[in-house]
Order: sequence, then structure tokens, then C-alpha cells
Amino acid sequence: MLINPVMGIDLGTTNSAVCLWQDGKAVLIPNKWGEILTPSVVGLDEQDNLIIGRPARERLQTHPSLTQGSFKRYMGTEALLTLGSRQFRAEELSALLLRQLKEDAEHWLGQPLSQAIITVPAYFNDVQRRAVKNAARLAGLEALRLLNEPTAASLAFGLLDNREQKYLTFDLGGGTFDVSIIDMFEGVVEVRASSGDVRLGGDDFSQAIVQWMLSQQPELKTAQATLAAQLLAKAEIMKQTLSHASEAKASLEWNGRQWNWTLTEEQLTACCQPLLARLQRPVQQALHDARFSLQDLDHIVLVGGATRMPLVRQTVARLFGRFPRHDLNPDEAVALGAGVQAGMVMADAAVEDIILTDVMPFSLGIEVVKRHGNQVEPGFFLPLIERNTFLPVSKNETLNTVSDNQTCVLLKIYQGEGRRVQDNVFLGEMSIDVPPRAAGEMSIDVRFTYTLDGLLEVECRYDGSPTVARTVIEKVPGQMSEEQIAASLRKLTDIKQHPRDRQENRELLARCSRLYERLLGDERAWVDGLTTAFEQALESQDLRRIAAVREEAENVLRQYESGTLQ
Ligand code: ADP
Ligand code: MG
Repeated sequence: MLINPVMGIDLGTTNSAVCLWQDGKAVLIPNKWGEILTPSVVGLDEQDNLIIGRPARERLQTHPSLTQGSFKRYMGTEALLTLGSRQFRAEELSALLLRQLKEDAEHWLGQPLSQAIITVPAYFNDVQRRAVKNAARLAGLEALRLLNEPTAASLAFGLLDNREQKYLTFDLGGGTFDVSIIDMFEGVVEVRASSGDVRLGGDDFSQAIVQWMLSQQPELKTAQATLAAQLLAKAEIMKQTLSHASEAKASLEWNGRQWNWTLTEEQLTACCQPLLARLQRPVQQALHDARFSLQDLDHIVLVGGATRMPLVRQTVARLFGRFPRHDLNPDEAVALGAGVQAGMVMADAAVEDIILTDVMPFSLGIEVVKRHGNQVEPGFFLPLIERNTFLPVSKNETLNTVSDNQTCVLLKIYQGEGRRVQDNVFLGEMSIDVPPRAAGEMSIDVRFTYTLDGLLEVECRYDGSPTVARTVIEKVPGQMSEEQIAASLRKLTDIKQHPRDRQENRELLARCSRLYERLLGDERAWVDGLTTAFEQALESQDLRRIAAVREEAENVLRQYESGTLQ
């Protein structure tokens, strides 16, 4: 029994994985199907039961209106995603997935779990990060720390090879692209810079193949959701086939006709060219921000399922003039790193010497006005904390009032790199009252503090004021309110899980199998019969019948376990 075990969770766009720190190492935890990767797909069946993971992914094609994947792309937005007659926010779908991951891990471990380290793309903004924390809360988990995905991968790599070195992690997942530059020395894993593209991933390569398929068969029209889903599934298979073969075929029955395709490596290269070209800019930006040249890097580490594509590997080799390392399993590296961080949080001796420093991947600042003679033009962005500053960080800036006898200063807080605030993400605002003075005569101190988690605190004080106005950016557009969270909790507990997946039923089945293993002969056959009856009751989904058989089975088990029957 571990004391307060902390889960490490890679909550991916396409796949998620869980890792626990056990006996001094990070251990990847299989789900109830015995698999390390759980597809990040959530659906409902015709009886309104939840389906999560692999079986849900299979239904993406057959039941597109009852199934949702890639919902991580909508984190931090108010978008509503539909499952049948119900609607969910991305946080809620993520919560359902997290709840499943938690239950599977609890089942594997045999003890409850309530705390987690969850990884997020380095490029996730403040709003998206808060959405992940809320999703965890809805799933009954406290997110102790949000860890940037490429940083997690770097921690995993650092554990594998802990010499003094500098490297770049290149993470191309299903929906996002993240680049980080790491400097490792004497047990310090220092993230020097992060960059990325939140709209680029392996899924875009599959979509490019779909476009190619349609261009080859112009009579096919994708107005129907089921056709689009089927084409995408075929494209996905062809893409993966081309990772180990030079040609891939697909055929599809549609409208009473058979449609065929043969995709070659050359054609794939041609249709993915625009996507490959987009891999370059984040790499250059990260190198620039870290003030590293290509020659400074000892390794390039590949992470994310899409780096299995030979095309991506060739592009990386060309970009860097050398071959990348792939000794880490690209699908598992992020989860492993989350597990290492969990060990660090649990203050395990084996990772005591690792120190992790991370950077803030985007600039944070406020709106200011520009003066042109007598004219005042609003809408400009003044960065207070520049991107790729080490975390945690606290910065101060002194500003002056703009108008005569101004009695209130409104601070509008933004995140981004744009010169004008309209190009950046609005995070929140605060106002302070100031004593009236002539324009420019009243100065105001603004302090931004950014935590390791990626949460921002703003403090503001005018010259001579005894008090400091303080705000933690909490309510921003796209974020759930406390009332919404409470309503959502009720809604999520309402959705039925298949009885077979409910914790108490799974535990009972596990107890039955342990008893079966212990007994022999007639008694064993009898327990077998009881187990079968319980399994059949579960499949019937008839709650009364399940309760009746469960009670009977529990009585028997209790008697055996307490030793009354031997
Ligand atoms: P995420 O971090 O977004 O959850 P993953 O790291 O699991 O994603 O990567 C998922 C992506 O990797 C998908 O777009 C999938 O098509 C792609 N992928 C997985 N295996 C292969 C393969 N053998 N060849 C090409 N692409 C692959
Ligand atoms: Mg990933």
C-alpha cells in the first residue's frame, strides 16, 4: 500500500495514458483492457450507457453522432459537443475520460486515487489550463500540478540518459505540435524554451490524405457524417501502413459501388508538404529564444505517435542535419514523465536529486495606450513577463495615469505575442481607484506573478497607497463558473456507466475469481456458476436482477472470507 499515491496522467488529444511511481520507478498502468494507451474517445450507446476508450474509438465510424474524439482541441472554449441528445463541454468529456482512467488505475492498484499530475501542451494558455484543472475536479481528482508535455517527455528521457547534455524534444501528437529545448546538468532538467503549433498534428496528415482520396474520386461527396468518418478511418490506416510499407491500399463500399485507392510514399509526401513546412517555425523560434544554435544540441528526441511517420523523421533529419533519437517509446514518454513528476511530488528518494525548471511558453501583459502628440491610441500590448522566462516568476512595472483627474485605472490582462491586444488572448481585468491628479502624475505599480502551474496572480498599487489590490485571474471567457461546475457534477453522475464497469461490480468479480482460485472440486464449480450468473446479470443491465445476484454472491463471499465456510 502506497501512502497517497499520485497518478501521472498524459491526457492526450488522441490517446491518454497513466503512470504511477512505484518502488523507485515510473510504471505505466494498463487499463481494463490490459492496454497502456486509452484512446481519448467518449461515447454513449443506444441505451445511454457510457462507452470510453477503445470500444468508443471503434464506434467513431459506425456511430459518429453518439461518439466524440479529439475534444481536447476545444478545452477552454464554450463549444458544446453533442452525444445523441445530450451536449457536453470539452471539460466534461475530459472528466468522463479522466474518471475512467482513475477507476482503471485504482482497480489495478487496489487502492483509491485522488491526486494527479496532468500533462498539458506547453502552448496551452491560461484558460485552457484552468479547463484541465476543472475537468480533473469533475472527475474527482485534484490536479496537484500541470506539467508541460514536452517537459514531461524530457524528464522521461533524462531518466534514461542522465549525462550532462542539451537536447530538443519534438512532440507531434494527434492534434498538437510542441517543441522544447532542454539543458540538463547535475540532476537539473532545465527547460530553456518551448514553442509549438496548437493546430498541427497527425490528424491533419490523415485529413490531407482524405482530401487526396476525394481528389482521386471526385464523384464522392462527404456531406454525410458516416462517409467522412469512414474516409478518415481509411486514411488513418493508409497513413500508418506507410510508416512501414512503401504503398497502402484502401477500398470502400458506398452507394452500391466499390471505391479503391492506392497511395504511394511520393503521393503522401506531396499531399503533406504544406504540413511538413509548418514544422520548421516552432523549431527555429525555440532555438532562437533559448539562444542555442543547431550545433549546441546533443540530441533530438522524438515524442508523439505522428513521429512514427518516416516522412516526419526525414523532415526532422533534414531540419537538424542529423538523425533523431527514438529510444523512448514515442506514445509513452509523456506519461512516463508525468509518473516521474508524481515521484518528485511524493518526495521519493530515487528522484530527490532531480530538479526541474520550466519556462512560461507565452508572454503576459496588459493593455496600454500610445500617445501621438495630443492623441491617445488605445489597444497596445505591453508584455510584463516575456515568453520563455523561467518559472516561477514575478515582475514589476510602473505605469502612469493617462488623463487629468483620472479616478480609476482599469487593467486589462492579456496573453500572447501580438503587438495589439486584439491579437492576443484576453485573460481578465481588475480596476483600482486612485486619487485624482494631473495626467501622468499618478504612478501605479503592477506586479505579475506566475506560478509553476501556469496560473497568474496580478497585484496593483498606486503610489502612496497603503493597500495592494490583488487578483488571481479566475473568471475569464470560456471558463466554467462554480455554478456550472456544480451543475456539471450532477449531470455527469447521472450518466449511466455500463454496470459491468462500475467499481463495486468489478470488485465483486475480482473477489469471485480469487475465491475460485482458492477452492477445488464442487465448491469451485459452484463459485463458477455464481460468477456466471453475476456476469449474465451485468450483461442484462437489469439493475434489480444485478442487485439480487450481487447480494447472494456477497453473502457467500463474506462467509468464505470470514472463514465460516471452509
Ligand atoms: P496525442 O498526444 O495527441 O494523444 P499521440 O502521441 O498518441 O497523440 O499520437 C497520435 C497520432 O499519432 C495520431 O494522429 C496517429 O495517427 C499517429 N500515429 C500513431 N501511430 C502511427 C504510425 N505507426 N504511423 C503514423 N502515424 C501514427
Ligand atoms: Mg501527446
